Amino acid sequence: MHTYVSTDHLRFLIHEYLKAPAQIENYEKFEGYDAEAFDMSIDAAEQIGNQHLYPAYRIMDQEKATCENGVVWTHPLLAEGLKAMTEGGWLSSTAPAEMGGSQMPLVLHNTASLIFMGANANIAAYAFLTVGAANLILAYGSDELKALYLPEMYSGRFQGTMALTEPQAGSSLTDITASATPIGDGQYKITGQKIYISGGDHASVDNVVHLMLARVDGAPAGTKGISLFVVPKHRPKGKTASEGWEPNDVITAGIYGKMGQKGYVAAHLMYGENENTIGYLVGEEHRGLSYMFSMMNEARIGTGIMATGCASGAYYASLKYAFERPQGRHPSQKDPNQPQIPIVEHADVRRMLLLQKAVVEGSQALLLEASLWEDIALNDSSDAAKQSHLMLELLTPIIKTFPSEYGTMAVMNGMQVLGGAGYCNDFPLEQYYRDIRVNAIYEGTTGIHGMDLMGRKILMGKGDVLKALSARMQADIEACAKTFPDEANALGASAVALAKTTTKLMGILQKDGPEAYLADASLYLEYFGLVVISWHWLRMANVASEKLANGGKLSKKFYESNILTMQYFIEYELPKTRGLHARLNSDKRVTLDASPELLV
Ligand SMILES: Cc1cc2nc3c(=O)[nH]c(=O)nc-3n(C[C@H](O)[C@H](O)[C@H](O)COP(=O)(O)OP(=O)(O)OC[C@H]3O[C@@H](n4cnc5c(N)ncnc54)[C@H](O)[C@@H]3O)c2cc1C
Repeated sequence: MHTYVSTDHLRFLIHEYLKAPAQIENYEKFEGYDAEAFDMSIDAAEQIGNQHLYPAYRIMDQEKATCENGVVWTHPLLAEGLKAMTEGGWLSSTAPAEMGGSQMPLVLHNTASLIFMGANANIAAYAFLTVGAANLILAYGSDELKALYLPEMYSGRFQGTMALTEPQAGSSLTDITASATPIGDGQYKITGQKIYISGGDHASVDNVVHLMLARVDGAPAGTKGISLFVVPKHRPKGKTASEGWEPNDVITAGIYGKMGQKGYVAAHLMYGENENTIGYLVGEEHRGLSYMFSMMNEARIGTGIMATGCASGAYYASLKYAFERPQGRHPSQKDPNQPQIPIVEHADVRRMLLLQKAVVEGSQALLLEASLWEDIALNDSSDAAKQSHLMLELLTPIIKTFPSEYGTMAVMNGMQVLGGAGYCNDFPLEQYYRDIRVNAIYEGTTGIHGMDLMGRKILMGKGDVLKALSARMQADIEACAKTFPDEANALGASAVALAKTTTKLMGILQKDGPEAYLADASLYLEYFGLVVISWHWLRMANVASEKLANGGKLSKKFYESNILTMQYFIEYELPKTRGLHARLNSDKRVTLDASPELLV
């Protein structure tokens, strides 16, 4: 039995489901990434997870990060874990060779991320935040910024952050007020504060590099007036790192007392309190939000990966317990002298376990296919590649939200499997439950992603991208219908019902305007997500069935388990779309017309 992640499933996805090595083999950038290289990297990631990350997971929760006199102390195991990830090359894995990177395909990097996040998101998140911030500098920064910061970030000496949120600007980034006054040479005096900044400060690194959004004096109001800056905790004394670094007037007001992820700090930061914070412009003025958002696909896949990793750890902890915990007897067994049975013998416990497995492995399929699409889109100019990119854009709200929302539900069920033990800290379920919850909040709340899906994504190309996705789904459903006729029919009907619902909602947009159209966007997002994950499950089971017939790399039990999980998802989870369908097709405007005054 696995401890926190099934590398069998990851290998199934890579080699048999997505055939990832074959799909990227013709791209020069990925030369050398053949099937064997994929396997070796998965082995290497698992080794780091087993040796350095997973053993620290509970300890970092119990001995949480603290802030004393403006200095943030993290557990020493964080530095150890980060060192292992850095030495393994995981901070620079996707970076170009000329920057010392390994040009690893995103699909492989994210397979490893699923392992790291399953082992210990409280460590892995610091590493991948740095990667995200470094990617922004790499894509839009000047040569000077690249030379100063990237070697330090790729070597793990500097932590990277994304500093967007302010007290009055959370979901509504248009209201950002942090300010930047030009002082020449691409430098600006920065003032303002940022809240909830993950990895925002800690003493396990030499420096913290904030990729910060602020408004240049006189900038237009709204999102078009926001610029992006590198604002380091310690700034360079000269033009090169060798001249040394000095304090940059970035003050840590404190760290938040979070419900979970207690090893992963979120800081409240003050800039320019002594009028001595310098920021360095990234790219052009006023284009900061567009730069930030161009990296959002990766960041949002990252949040999906974090949630999936956590749900995966919870699944294997509850699966182990279910086989070991004797309790009760089968309903037909009335004799108290008979021994108790392990709880996995109870159908309701198996339901909760299958729910977890289906959410975790379905999310992994979605995340890795999306990562592969990104690899193809960035290396190929064919029409098919362009379409994959648009499809990724369309599905990004689901990629972020399904693992976060259904992952939380999965962990809740994992906790239920343990009964009272799930609620107590002798077992890790209560930690997984606390840790996963934030994923539905940061990187855009579920409500904001629902509005993104309905307000922007399904309207892209006048609905053509959505139509292309529907056509792809339809073709796959038809291809699976011979092997799994009942499940293919069920999914086909749900997909048609979703398309009709979309048409109806677009009519509401025309007739009643955006408020009415977007009122139930979160429900539409959930509906869409259930259909998309069912689509993955049907395709995965079709591959499993083919491998059962003709032989594959994995065991007969693995493929049978895959098919069983597909049947669970289509039988138990997909029908939830019927309730969502009823609500979204009803003309009653309960929440839209509800007066806030009646909420007493
Ligand atoms: C632990 C943690 C770590 C974080 N890390 C970072 C980080 O590293 N960098 C960073 O910049 N930020 C970070 N954040 C901030 C995070 O991105 C925000 O908390 C999030 O975007 C929500 O903003 P808010 O908290 O202001 O909530 P609000 O925006 O006030 O939202 C509150 C509720 O209102 C809803 N709502 C808001 N606006 C609308 C609308 N127009 N229509 C419908 N519903 C709406 C939301 O969906 C939500 O349910 C972090 C937050 C936490 C908790």
